[in-house]
Amino acid sequence: MKTVITRFPPSPTGYLHVGGARTALFNWLYARHMKGKFILRIEDTDRERSTRASVDAILDSLEWLGIDWDEGPHFQSERFDIYKEYVQKLLDSGNAYYCTCTSEEIEEMRKKAMASGDKPKYNGRCRNKGIDKTDNAVVRFASASAGTTVLKDSIKGNIRFQNTELDDFIIVRSDGVPTYNLAVVVDDITMGVNTVIRGDDHVNNTPRQIQIYKALGIELPVYGHVPMVLGNDRSRLSKRHGAMSVTAYRDMGYLPEALLNYLVRLGWSYGDQEFFLIDELIEKFTLDNIGRSAGIFDQEKLLSLNADHIKASPPRKLIKYWKPFLKERRINNDNNQYLEKIIETLNTRSKNLIDLTEGALFYFQDEISYEEKAARKNFKPAALEPLRILCGQIEAIKDFNEANLEDAFKKVMQSCEIKLGKIAQPVRVALTGKTVSPGIFEIIHVLGKDVVISRLKKAITFIEASAPEP
Ligand code: GLU
Repeated sequence: MKTVITRFPPSPTGYLHVGGARTALFNWLYARHMKGKFILRIEDTDRERSTRASVDAILDSLEWLGIDWDEGPHFQSERFDIYKEYVQKLLDSGNAYYCTCTSEEIEEMRKKAMASGDKPKYNGRCRNKGIDKTDNAVVRFASASAGTTVLKDSIKGNIRFQNTELDDFIIVRSDGVPTYNLAVVVDDITMGVNTVIRGDDHVNNTPRQIQIYKALGIELPVYGHVPMVLGNDRSRLSKRHGAMSVTAYRDMGYLPEALLNYLVRLGWSYGDQEFFLIDELIEKFTLDNIGRSAGIFDQEKLLSLNADHIKASPPRKLIKYWKPFLKERRINNDNNQYLEKIIETLNTRSKNLIDLTEGALFYFQDEISYEEKAARKNFKPAALEPLRILCGQIEAIKDFNEANLEDAFKKVMQSCEIKLGKIAQPVRVALTGKTVSPGIFEIIHVLGKDVVISRLKKAITFIEASAPEP
């Protein structure tokens, strides 16, 4: 069996949006599943709109997502000689010709066609004129004028196009720049691409591309046109539905694996399963399971899947994605063991990495500042005795383990005749500044004996100063 070769060919006219990321993902997963090759190609023939910043943004996004490529990035702007060679082949074989019609003439043709109830299209006026290359000439492809072109789509089934609908489209503009339909075919041919998975907004281009393949006598690739991603109002996903770029999701604290998991499910399914790790996707992804209906992008679902991935990821793996969020809060802690322990206390209660960061701030503060309401409610004079006893008990612990810690709390409960809640809440506020946090024993364990003692002492001093004993 021949090696499957797929590609992702973004136009660098903006950031990588989630729809584009899904296309990249499908091509990448299929190549990985089939042990094939995945090529990255930058379609930058539109010099006005293409920017280096967009190229960088796209590469960054793919790297963050973990979508790696085996070849490229190729740049179309560096491949003009190859396009020229193929255009010459088409000219030599009579499948293309020079056209010197002016835009006014073409406008006139269109008007005429419309007036007689036809589609507005180029009427082939220069096709048999044998025009030689001149400065302002464009090159047109001589499309079949009768019969049908069939797109055998592995997702949508067979789609038939009447050739009378296709006009002699331009393949090289008057400035010598090849058009998308020409460049994409030449690239796919010369790069050996044999599987093209892309958005179904390209379905209408495909008969033109098929005709170019046929004119060159080259076998067609397998095509799969994936339905578009829609917003929750079923219109095409756009900015007004929320963030569109991959980097926006990165900055909002999503894990790449969660975003990929979410995107793959917008169009591909495996029974009812919702949660997938990447290796599992590579193992299970085939074109057969890509559906025909459009996926609806739902932020809430994505967020809940993100929470599931945070929970399921080994803390060690999360650190790399978490560190930029800590840096943003000026926390430069490279003690990965400490970070892992922190994550273990928070990963079941964080929906994204911003939540995780917020929830973890107290672990990094030298001075805990108390939320006003938390202090008012929990730092009452009655808390002083239990806190003092606990502090003494903890200071006396030699082996700072769970059993000894529990013992220390028990002693406080016994000697003050109080329930755990009465001591746990003031301790929580002393250690975190807040009333909501991970379990108190988990926190104590992560902070360690010295920090716990110093925070308890600080709380005692605070209560002594603000709420004198009766
Ligand atoms: N550059 C095109 C796009 O971004 C690629 C289309 C294709 O896959 O052929 O839509």
